[in-house]
Amino acid sequence: MSNILAFSDSADSCLELVTLGKNLGGSFSIAVLGSGDLSSQSKKLSVDGVSSIYEVSHESLKNLLAGPATDALEAVSKRARPDLILLSSTKKGKELAGRLAARLKVGCISDAMKLSVQGSGFAADRLVWGGNAIASVSSKGAAVVTIPLRAYARASNPSSPNIIQVDDFQPKPVNVSAIGKKEKPKGQVSIKDAEIIVSAGRGFKKKEDLSMLEDLAKVLNAVVGASRPLTSDLGWVSEDRQVGLSGTTVKPKLYIAVGISGQIQHLTGMRESKVIVAINTDKNAPIFQECDYGIVGDLYAVVPELTKAFKAQLGR
Ligand SMILES: Cc1cc2nc3c(=O)[nH]c(=O)nc-3n(C[C@H](O)[C@H](O)[C@H](O)COP(=O)(O)OP(=O)(O)OC[C@H]3O[C@@H](n4cnc5c(N)ncnc54)[C@H](O)[C@@H]3O)c2cc1C
Repeated sequence: MSNILAFSDSADSCLELVTLGKNLGGSFSIAVLGSGDLSSQSKKLSVDGVSSIYEVSHESLKNLLAGPATDALEAVSKRARPDLILLSSTKKGKELAGRLAARLKVGCISDAMKLSVQGSGFAADRLVWGGNAIASVSSKGAAVVTIPLRAYARASNPSSPNIIQVDDFQPKPVNVSAIGKKEKPKGQVSIKDAEIIVSAGRGFKKKEDLSMLEDLAKVLNAVVGASRPLTSDLGWVSEDRQVGLSGTTVKPKLYIAVGISGQIQHLTGMRESKVIVAINTDKNAPIFQECDYGIVGDLYAVVPELTKAFKAQLGR
């Protein structure tokens, strides 16, 4: 039985942690951090399996900067006395995990898969060496653990946990402050929540050829993703569209991999998709081991035909 405290800067990801907590057993609390009235955030997280919600509201937590956010999680931990602290593997979660573990002098496991209780500690698997190997790790006692996004379904049954306001929170003096926020330019749709993704790989010869995939995406109401060579190496697609180990993990209803070989670092980010379609000229490409439907063929011939067929079928 564990005493679990969870935090995520995304409510949806936090609901995924609740499901993991239910699997692990024990009591489950959530920390909600921010400024002003936090009741609407708490309400969203008031689901079956959550026994308490600790609200820490303070001006310093407005932008969830790492310093004050760590202070706040430390303050909640001192009250809740968890033996397991779960954070989502968001950028913020990863930023906080190491800091919090150091503060509390406990172990830290990042991107844990198959997390389980082991004696008085916890055990998990982690992908290492660029996703080519799996390390089994364990903590001897309490631990801070980050959990990959979308690894669990979101808990959803409403309930009425205890709401505890942490009124006496005082952050340590800070020397970093947020001086502004900028919206991303419109059109850069996040691939994280896309239901359909069509992804481009090194099979595309020129940047201009990607318009072919954009046409397909338009017909399917899909978002265009890409493998790493097209983002980091060639700069043809913005990095926030990269799918994989060092990009985003996605779990759409449909993932179409076009001219992507299926190296482990890419597969790690999309293999949980509900239906995977692969288009590749090489019938031995590893992607064909992972897909539900495989088309062995030249993308330059297949993609326009697919677009035409979907257009006719969907009447778009
Ligand atoms: C630490 C680390 C992290 C990484 N993180 C990521 C990551 O997050 N995401 C990621 O994607 N990669 C990542 N990589 C890179 C990864 O190892 C691969 O290099 C990359 O995924 C390959 O991309 P690709 O499949 O597009 O290219 P390739 O492996 O070059 O494959 C291109 C494919 O296109 C096919 N093809 C060629 N012409 C055509 C055509 N006309 N029609 C149809 N098919 C065609 C070929 O048969 C081939 O299978 C990472 C690597 C490391 C070491």
